[in-house]
Amino acid sequence: MPASINACKDILNEQFIDNAWVPSRSQTCRPVLNPYNESLLAEVTCGDSADVDIAVAAARRALPGWRAMPEVSRGEYLVAIAAGLETRRQALAELSCRNNGKPLVEAHQDLDDAIACYRYYAKAAVALGQRQGTVADAGQADLEARHYWDAIGVVGLITPWNFPLVSSAWKLAPALAAGCAVVFKPSEVTPLPERILAEIVIEAGLPPGVFNLLLGDGEGIGAPLSRHPGIDKLSFTGSNAVGEAVMHAAAQGVRPVSLELGGKSPILVTEDADLGLARDLVMAGICYNAGQMCSATSRLLVHESVADDLYAAIDAAISELHLGDPMTKGTDMGPLVSATQRERVQGYMVLANEEGLSSKTPTIALPGCGFFVAPRLYREVPTTSRLWQEEIFGPLLCARRVADDAEAIGLANGSDFGLAATVVTGDADRAEAIARRLEAGNVWCNSDQVAPPQGSWGGMKRSGIGRELGDLGLGAYLELKRITRPLKT
Ligand code: NAD
Repeated sequence: MPASINACKDILNEQFIDNAWVPSRSQTCRPVLNPYNESLLAEVTCGDSADVDIAVAAARRALPGWRAMPEVSRGEYLVAIAAGLETRRQALAELSCRNNGKPLVEAHQDLDDAIACYRYYAKAAVALGQRQGTVADAGQADLEARHYWDAIGVVGLITPWNFPLVSSAWKLAPALAAGCAVVFKPSEVTPLPERILAEIVIEAGLPPGVFNLLLGDGEGIGAPLSRHPGIDKLSFTGSNAVGEAVMHAAAQGVRPVSLELGGKSPILVTEDADLGLARDLVMAGICYNAGQMCSATSRLLVHESVADDLYAAIDAAISELHLGDPMTKGTDMGPLVSATQRERVQGYMVLANEEGLSSKTPTIALPGCGFFVAPRLYREVPTTSRLWQEEIFGPLLCARRVADDAEAIGLANGSDFGLAATVVTGDADRAEAIARRLEAGNVWCNSDQVAPPQGSWGGMKRSGIGRELGDLGLGAYLELKRITRPLKT
């Protein structure tokens, strides 16, 4: 295991700028805890606007050289970053597990996703180079037009805590492939896995200033980064409230913004569905990462003829879950990420009691430590309930029985959010027909929530602006330039 991954119990009062760890201008640190046993993992700098100024200046100096570099060379750096992650796979998965509380097997899946993303955008960089200068329709016989794609500039990237290394890969890999220099701010709750990217970047030999990492919270780093005039574009993943603030800041100077925000995604189960599959997909959709997923399918809409059977199957599956040390084999679900997050979810449980919501989910054993909340199914939740309408970001599932597909689709779409949805049916054509009518950026039919790097990720309605992954994810960091000139004769 590389020494730096072990050395996390330190006071980490440094920022990574110009390929070097430099003292943070901030004098304050915040504790980073292991959410399973509440032990202190490290004290990490809060960072402040002076750090932002220095990092943005470094990125601006690096931008011209990086942007002018052949795409194929940038692709080679991305391959090297993927290799750096691969070499540290076990250590990084364990660090992510300790810092975030997700089961080790899920942390390994995160590593798989992150590595695949860097590899995908390494190839995408090569393909970008090949399409530079593509001949376009000039609209006139005596003119010739060509298309070129330029890096948008210096980008500010801000991520949440639920998928460390993955949310960042979805931004860093396309931004670097496009030729942007980056200032990256991970969540202050889970900074430890992301810190290791610094040594991977040095090992990969990236030119100084191309990748800058700022550690700190929203007030100290996020807000000053969002409003910094040296930032040409912002890409943000997180809550709607902060997304609005970032968009507001980006308006000054008319800078583009990509937003990946919250969700309240539905899972629809028809009467002809395989109920075993439906149970498994419901459980994965609300228990993976302890329900702390923007795409958690937290609203179940099930046909009335199978509702009671499915509810019973879900409650039985919950009763068999083992909640415990996420580092231990056999643990199905770990704790929530923080005491704050647990309080937030418990607040919704109190509200459910006040509203008299019905739940028959058996009580399951919780470890005597950590920020745990047991999964719970609430039956026939009124659409007026805040539990039905608001993103909870924990393992609380709200369900309603429906008479037919039309009612299910109407209720599914009756949300301000539109990130994702799952459809479980016995008929592929019916699944497709339902999926076509759902207002969601991703719909999975009889499938797990797969999100391959060549796919697309993003929300309709209030769930965000733009798409990550795939070609669209690269396009988020590019500006199209059209050059028109007289046709050579
Ligand atoms: P959050 O909005 O509180 O924080 C996200 C990031 O923004 C953190 O790095 C935080 O420090 C920073 N931040 C806070 N205040 C800021 C400000 N004023 N200006 C700029 N940056 C600021 O979200 P969270 O609690 O870390 O994550 C949970 C939320 O993220 C949920 O709402 C979830 O749905 C959303 N999310 C969305 C997606 C998606 O792909 N759509 C993926 C993961 C998480």
